[in-house]
Amino acid sequence: MAIADPSRKLMTDALGRRISYLRISVTDRCDLRCRYCMAERMTFLPKNQVLTLEEIALLADLFIGRGVRKIRLTGGEPLVRRDIIDLVRRIGRHIGQGLDELTLTTNGTRLSDHAHALHDGGIRRINVSLDSLDPDRFAHVTRGGDIRSVFHGLEAAKAAGLAVKINMVALKGVNDDEILPMLHWCDKQGFDLTLIETMPLGETGEDRTDHYLPLTQVAASLRTHYAITQLPQRTGGPARYYAVDGLRARLGLITPMTHNFCADCNRMRMTCEGKIFMCLGHDDHVDLKAALREGGLAAVEPLIDRALRLKPARHDFQIGQDLDPAIRRHMSVTGG
Ligand code: SAM
Ligand code: SF4
Repeated sequence: MAIADPSRKLMTDALGRRISYLRISVTDRCDLRCRYCMAERMTFLPKNQVLTLEEIALLADLFIGRGVRKIRLTGGEPLVRRDIIDLVRRIGRHIGQGLDELTLTTNGTRLSDHAHALHDGGIRRINVSLDSLDPDRFAHVTRGGDIRSVFHGLEAAKAAGLAVKINMVALKGVNDDEILPMLHWCDKQGFDLTLIETMPLGETGEDRTDHYLPLTQVAASLRTHYAITQLPQRTGGPARYYAVDGLRARLGLITPMTHNFCADCNRMRMTCEGKIFMCLGHDDHVDLKAALREGGLAAVEPLIDRALRLKPARHDFQIGQDLDPAIRRHMSVTGG
């Protein structure tokens, strides 16, 4: 069992930040092609370059042993990976035994098949991405997605007892008029809503500068309708949470383009190829796959110490004509 072992070093970076949150991208593949995330034609990794379920589970054990208390499974679309439920069960066994929480971020299209199994595996909260409630607009943003599959998935999640937070990327001129309706809809459904600023990650064939909508603007406009109070809850990332007067739905604002969360960043990311990125906004990484395949877990440990030394003080995102995309990796590779 991978309970944090007091004889082993907890993960602390050069600036003294304790790393306790790991995001694992379990696949780079997806059944949608959201315009801000992927290009229409994507080349995905060959299977042998992707970590097996067993390899991901072993690495998760190791990280829990070194003090990771929260794991989020993401992608790509995690529910398109065939063996995802086995992985959830494997990692879920550690909940209460070193791991506080296992969560998942999904586009929801396959949730109706998996919601109960996710709950059985120990997941209690999921994030579901939904940028519009309008079927045509949803199909436009996702380049062909069918919103009905997401609605079915959300019903299944409710029936399974999963708490749902809707992730909505705020896009100027695309869905900015839907932010208030989305907040009301989430409130009615018993969901929370998190708004995300678009980040310059990977070529998508679209100009993100045109659609960048600073959430400071959105918050100011919401304040003309509601009293909004910041909640003390923090997750060590770029999200701030707010209570909205008169609504049950909590509102999250993810403002990755600002730097003021970097000082208490507690997270690291593992790609489906076993690369560890210490910051979404930097290219520095270490590659665990070859070490694991050639030397087993003992060969991986020194690489983790090297990764900790790579964690930068802050990210480098900037939206600007010359700088887009700031980082060549797609979000679907590093895991959102
Ligand atoms: N496929 C799943 C989904 O869509 O929820 C999980 C992976 S997706 C990469 C995770 C989150 O990243 C989603 O909420 C998505 O909207 C967000 N995302 C993707 N590309 C982004 C970008 N360039 N800027 C901001 N958010 C992005
Ligand atoms: Fe797929 Fe999620 Fe990226 Fe959309 S945001 S293309 S659903 S990985």
